[in-house]
Amino acid sequence: MSDKPTGTVVTADQAEASRRGLMLVLSSPSGAGKSTIARQLLAEEKETITLSISVTTRPRRSSEIDGVHYHFITPDRFRQMRDRDELLEWAEVHGNYYGTPRDPVESALESGRDVLFDIDIQGTFQLYEKMREDVASIFILPPSIAEMKSRLNRRAEDTDDVILRRLQTAVGEMRHWSKYDYIIVNDDLERAFKGARAILHAERLRRERSPAIGTFIEGMMQDLQQELGE
Ligand code: 5GP
Repeated sequence: MSDKPTGTVVTADQAEASRRGLMLVLSSPSGAGKSTIARQLLAEEKETITLSISVTTRPRRSSEIDGVHYHFITPDRFRQMRDRDELLEWAEVHGNYYGTPRDPVESALESGRDVLFDIDIQGTFQLYEKMREDVASIFILPPSIAEMKSRLNRRAEDTDDVILRRLQTAVGEMRHWSKYDYIIVNDDLERAFKGARAILHAERLRRERSPAIGTFIEGMMQDLQQELGE
């Protein structure tokens, strides 16, 4: 075996470190269990993935904390952010405005951190237009409409009116299921969570996300050719 200096110019660690973060989008009709899956992913993968905290003009629910679940802002402030192009995407959902602040997402991706998005279908399509290659999208469905209704009622955070509106929106959203990269039917929370985590792990290994991987492999091939005396 030769002990000549190797031709490798990029190590495996350097190739991994060159990876750009990915945008993992979770969308679902209300009551499909998306928030629980998102929470579990964030807890188990906290070293590498962060939640994109949206701004919204919707009133805060009693269980929500400003700056953790959303940044609750006024319609005036929302318009200002939108007009200054400070939002990566935005949408009106159930009469309220929601949007993704641009800066935290861009800096996370550049530093190789993944970002989790809990956004609707309109937002997902805007991200596709702007940065399709960074996005992996998952559509989460409830196992049945009966189960979805019962989850919404159990949550007991919304009025009957709001629940009805959410169910109506669900029909429109489900129509677009085929635009998502992955589909998870949440009939068992643990299995659904494992599916989402498997998608995240596989997406991280996509060749295109690591600009230095080609150089790493070329270097190894040169080493191998030296070993073989070619
Ligand atoms: P909720 O009011 O139940 O928290 O959210 C209502 C819907 O708005 C959900 O489908 C949620 O995914 C979506 N949503 C939350 N934040 C954003 C956002 O920043 N952009 C978009 N497009 N949708 C969002």
